[in-house]
Amino acid sequence: MSTLEIKDLHVSIDTEQGSKEILKGVTLTINTNETHAIMGPNGSGKSTLAATIAGHPRYNVTSGTITLDGEDVLEMSVDERAKAGLFLAMQYPVEVPGVTMTNFLRTAKTAIDGEAPKLRTWTKDVKEAMGKLKIDADFAQRNVNEGFSGGEKKRVEILQLELFKPKFAVLDETDSGLDVDALKIVSEGVNRAQNENQMGTLLITHYTRILRYIKPDFVHVFVDGKIAEQGGPELADRLEEEGYDRFLNVNA
Ligand code: ADP
Ligand code: MG
Ligand code: MG
Repeated sequence: MSTLEIKDLHVSIDTEQGSKEILKGVTLTINTNETHAIMGPNGSGKSTLAATIAGHPRYNVTSGTITLDGEDVLEMSVDERAKAGLFLAMQYPVEVPGVTMTNFLRTAKTAIDGEAPKLRTWTKDVKEAMGKLKIDADFAQRNVNEGFSGGEKKRVEILQLELFKPKFAVLDETDSGLDVDALKIVSEGVNRAQNENQMGTLLITHYTRILRYIKPDFVHVFVDGKIAEQGGPELADRLEEEGYDRFLNVNA
């Protein structure tokens, strides 16, 4: 078992008005084989948490820690995070002109594992994973994300998840812009990665819709840069019925 541990994390960004604190003390422990949903209103800092785990340079960690099996994640470069077993969808460029999907996947897999995958099994693995995600075979020869629709980009994201076999995946609004069919295909891919590789998942979402297909073990409600409430799957059901009003009106 592996553990991703976030302790009392404070994160600021530089704005024209000066430094602004976005995360105000986030504490969260995720083990492999667990699915944690982070839910919360817009602007509560969910993407800031994802981007900080990913190592986005814009976000300044002012205090607190992120560790993976005790190793300091904040000291790692983006590449080192991927090698350590973190999958962070946003670290991959939106479009890579002149690089085919096939070459990109093999290069990234080689970098993550520290050795090139065996060509025959790799080609078969890629084909199979593409088939399961209903990605057309000719995508393999297309340039990364060039001209892909929103739904196709999401599928390719999950394709990476299936092939790279990370210990932990941080998925930020993976459900946005997907129709029900695409949502099901993408969710099945996440569920496969969880079942086959004991992946731990941090599933960030504003809406409860994706939680019908990816069942969380834990639900954390994120409000104003902190976790305001935690519970099991029943908390998501409650949010679906009530929305976030009761969290937003506390000071009204
Ligand atoms: P969420 O993903 O929950 O919608 P974000 O992490 O995107 O929230 O944003 C959290 C807060 O940080 C918001 O108040 C947002 O306005 C602010 N914020 C995020 N990025 C920037 C930025 N580049 N410049 C100024 N404020 C930002
Ligand atoms: Mg599970
Ligand atoms: Mg967001």
